[in-house]
Amino acid sequence: MLPENPTLEQYLAHAAELAERGAAAFAQANDPDALEAARIQFLGDKRGELLALQKALGALPADSRRDAGRAFNEAKTRLNAALDDRRTTLARSTSTGPALDLTLPARERWRGGRHPVTLVIDEIVGIFRELGFTIALGPESESEWYNFGALNFPADHPAMDLHDTLYLGEGALLRTHTSPVQVRTLQRHAPPIRILAPGTVFRRDPFDASHAPAFAQIEGLAVDEGISFVDLKATLTHFAQRFFGATRTRFRPSYFPFTEPSAEMDVACRLCGGKGCAACKGTGWMEILGSGMVHPAVLEAAGIDSERYTGWAFGMGPARIAMQRYDLPDIRLLYDSDIRFLEQVAE
Ligand SMILES: [Zn+2]
Repeated sequence: MLPENPTLEQYLAHAAELAERGAAAFAQANDPDALEAARIQFLGDKRGELLALQKALGALPADSRRDAGRAFNEAKTRLNAALDDRRTTLARSTSTGPALDLTLPARERWRGGRHPVTLVIDEIVGIFRELGFTIALGPESESEWYNFGALNFPADHPAMDLHDTLYLGEGALLRTHTSPVQVRTLQRHAPPIRILAPGTVFRRDPFDASHAPAFAQIEGLAVDEGISFVDLKATLTHFAQRFFGATRTRFRPSYFPFTEPSAEMDVACRLCGGKGCAACKGTGWMEILGSGMVHPAVLEAAGIDSERYTGWAFGMGPARIAMQRYDLPDIRLLYDSDIRFLEQVAE
């Protein structure tokens, strides 16, 4: 204890001893309660020992107060530092795991989402499911016959060139479209047939802003007695109205080996409403899909009587549709798996 009227020497000795004793008491506190008790003893604002030391300053002769004041401040700084140290140590050791810092901000819970291309496929599938279509899947490595031959490709068609198709050797290749799934379905099931075939397809394309060597495709096929081009137009127009909210559609004559007649379907550009803008290259139309009546040779190759049955088919690229929907300038955004991009569009 400090005498009532201490000398400077007594004051300095007491300040040093107090700081030493307080720091030791803090360091020995084994839990938050013990630390709090020690804090009240030394730093309490009613009867704390440091407060008594501060009050004793006033009893010193005036010429001693500068040195005594410095000693007081040193004791105060040391005690507060020792208290903080012990608090941090105790907070860390109360956790059971290794070195868990309870002072870190909480981590936001990570929530997964569906990729934009998956979202597009799911929505297309949902619309056609209401019309009685089911999903059909097939292998990604195919034979030349399923990928080309059964689909009425002439033997010298440029798509079969090594520059366009990724061959695996011995008549095997990575499918360039999901059409082999149509052939396999026609072989396995008798009409009526209504299927959608979504899946990954492969082409020997450069990976640039508008091409990818592996990309998603979705095709549809309907085969039954008495099916005509009217069914094709009505169904695809219904789809375009549902999916794109398109007010206008148009069909343009086209050519595919496996359909006859063939048509490309466009929908009115949703950005300019048909007036013409940069997105639709001034035409007012967006190209959405290719379609046509299934070529009789394709039905016959799969063992279906083309005199009795007719059918129609279509194919589209969900990645291109996703690019339009989300206004993406580069298709590679969809394949880079960059979380910063995907977080903005995944659902
Ligand atoms: Zn436009």
